[in-house]
Amino acid sequence: MRAASSRGLGLRLVVAFSLIAMLCALVIGYYVSQARQQVGADYTALVTDVVRAQQDPAALRMTLDSLIDSQDRIHLEQIHALLWRIPRRIDGIRLQLRRSELAPASYGELVEELAHVESRLPALEAAVDVGAEQGLDERGSEAILALGMEVEEGLAWAYSELNELLHRASAEQRQLMERLALAVAVLLLLLLLAIAAVMRMLFQLHRQRETMRLQSRTDELTALGNRRWLREAAEQAFERRRRHGASLSLMLLDLDHFKRINDAFGHPVGDAVLVAFSRVLERQVRRVDRVARMGGEEFAILMPDSDLAGAEALAERILRATRAMSLPGPAAEHRLTVSIGVVEAGEERSFDRLYSRADELLYRAKAGGRDRAVTGQGQAVPRPAGGAARTAIDAN
Ligand code: GH3
Ligand code: MG
Ligand code: MG
Repeated sequence: MRAASSRGLGLRLVVAFSLIAMLCALVIGYYVSQARQQVGADYTALVTDVVRAQQDPAALRMTLDSLIDSQDRIHLEQIHALLWRIPRRIDGIRLQLRRSELAPASYGELVEELAHVESRLPALEAAVDVGAEQGLDERGSEAILALGMEVEEGLAWAYSELNELLHRASAEQRQLMERLALAVAVLLLLLLLAIAAVMRMLFQLHRQRETMRLQSRTDELTALGNRRWLREAAEQAFERRRRHGASLSLMLLDLDHFKRINDAFGHPVGDAVLVAFSRVLERQVRRVDRVARMGGEEFAILMPDSDLAGAEALAERILRATRAMSLPGPAAEHRLTVSIGVVEAGEERSFDRLYSRADELLYRAKAGGRDRAVTGQGQAVPRPAGGAARTAIDAN
């Protein structure tokens, strides 16, 4: 069940990642293509040229007005100078437009108008030349005026349209930049959300694994570590011993005549006794010691950095505390005892070897009459004064 939920989580992770990555790629792709087309466009030069060119129709109009007033030859020269400048400006703008990022359709009409203006320039020039050579009469002035006004209006209209077009393009560019900034912000937010979601899933996965790991190493009834947990702790302790030569002891404990408790008071009371005994063990040991339930009414204590003397002292304390235990409910009057086998690691390289030696000593403690500890050197921890005589069992 748990393995399946981990797999489901992993699959969800992959799907979420793929969706987010696809979404990001699509949005970024779209905006990059847009940006390529528009954001890089620089309209500054074109705007400058248009502003300069707009002086031409204004100057032409002023000159024409002056011509009406004074009909002086000087004005004809001024118009001549303008006629030299106007086509060059038109050419320059046409070239800039072609090079620009503006869509040709958007400026097609005004380019046509500029072409029309250009087509009228030779006629205006001819009229100005005639006026300059033969003097200005009324007909000549009217012709210059009519043509000049036509050119002026055409230019003014085309340049103001172009100006408008450039303003619109700049505004669109600015808008696109704003959208791009917004898109980037949203993408970043999405990315952050995705990272947060992934972190959360990873954290959940880690927590699930940790819970599973812990459960597979915990005894359900007593909440002590189980055999697997103790074996792992022992492997680490052996490693430490190999590296630093630290001492290491192991104690196996088996409750005496436990079956009788079950038989007399029932299995639930037996369970409660096992739990109570676990708490007694936990109270007696040091922080570094590892207490485990190996199964049934058998327990073990792994004692890193503890030699045989230290382990014996602990065994003695446990024997005393067990005898003094007040058992739960109907078993209150019953006295519990435990038999213990204690060894200190010597030549052993593995936990199993150490364990079987301790088991052998435990068996001897049982055979010797129970309620006692037999150590690796075969010394039984003595009973307190007043207790029934016990036989020390020699393990050697
Ligand atoms: P000895 O002094 O020789 O160890 O005798 P004993 O009765 O303790 O040993 P035996 O192996 O004959 O019996 C062990 C009993 O422990 C039998 C079994 O029903 C009981 N037992 C094992 N696991 C549990 C458990 O989880 N809860 C309860 N209540 N009893 C258990
Ligand atoms: Mg047993
Ligand atoms: Mg027993």
